[in-house]
Amino acid sequence: MTPIEVNIERPGGEESGGRRHPNTCPTCRSHYREDELRHAQRVCPHCGHHFAVGAMERIEQLVDPGTFVEIGSDLRAADPLAFVDIKPYIDRLSAAELQTGLGDSLVAGHGRIVGRGAALAVMDFAFMGGSMGSVMGERFCLAADHAERFGVPLISVTASGGARMQENILALMQMAKTVGAVDGLREAGVPYISILAHPTTGGVIASFASLGDVVVAEPGALLSFAGPRVVEQTTGEKTAADFGRAESNLRLGQLDAVVPRRELRGELAKLLMLFSPAEDEPTGDNEPLMTIVEGDANPIDKVLGRLGLGRRRG
Ligand SMILES: [Zn+2]
Repeated sequence: MTPIEVNIERPGGEESGGRRHPNTCPTCRSHYREDELRHAQRVCPHCGHHFAVGAMERIEQLVDPGTFVEIGSDLRAADPLAFVDIKPYIDRLSAAELQTGLGDSLVAGHGRIVGRGAALAVMDFAFMGGSMGSVMGERFCLAADHAERFGVPLISVTASGGARMQENILALMQMAKTVGAVDGLREAGVPYISILAHPTTGGVIASFASLGDVVVAEPGALLSFAGPRVVEQTTGEKTAADFGRAESNLRLGQLDAVVPRRELRGELAKLLMLFSPAEDEPTGDNEPLMTIVEGDANPIDKVLGRLGLGRRRG
């Protein structure tokens, strides 16, 4: 008699070889259908674990429907070093594009959030580990240019393993380039809000991602230059259980807030209302906190000043 083979999805969701299904929660082992997880903004309804979100889905979660316009979507990485590791870099790039539908690890553009304009730079970890290369850096700068030109805040959402080794020095140069763009925003008095998702590490946390006028993170996100394993191997010391996590970064003063994903759009709307009042802002109880006069002080400094909070100058 031939045994009947039944394919059972076990509670652990472990496939043969110990690989976890991407829709199985690593914390509580609950398993979800794709549409369930998407509907829940990829936050486990059972335990609150935050799953990874792709760039386009993140934009959908944050931006008013139908208002997003992409910038620099035609840019693709060159391969001036003709780099080959196990596979040629160009093959890795086309495989990543096929897998994610994106031309690189960052999507830039502009849109509206609860009616207010913003420039956006949103990373996708699924594209070569969210690595920072020349196209990623250029797209970030295009978003910053848009913010500066139209006087709207720049919002970035990061998820990155660090610099893209296949681009060598060209990848590392993006740290200086993106920091320069953020500096330009600061000089122009244009607010920059940085949202850190899991994981934001390496060259991205060491450059623009840490430089927001407001820096917030999702719960449990790993935010450190090197991960705990590398730190333990290098120093020979055991790290704390929450090493590099959003919560410990908040405690150490590196973040302004830890915001659960479901509250993120609402919090952004509040920040945009504070930093970028609409021209037709209703008066009375909703009187704008400030009006931006060209050549006036940095609007963030003005708001903080009004609240009696000074801002540190570098
Ligand atoms: Zn869970």
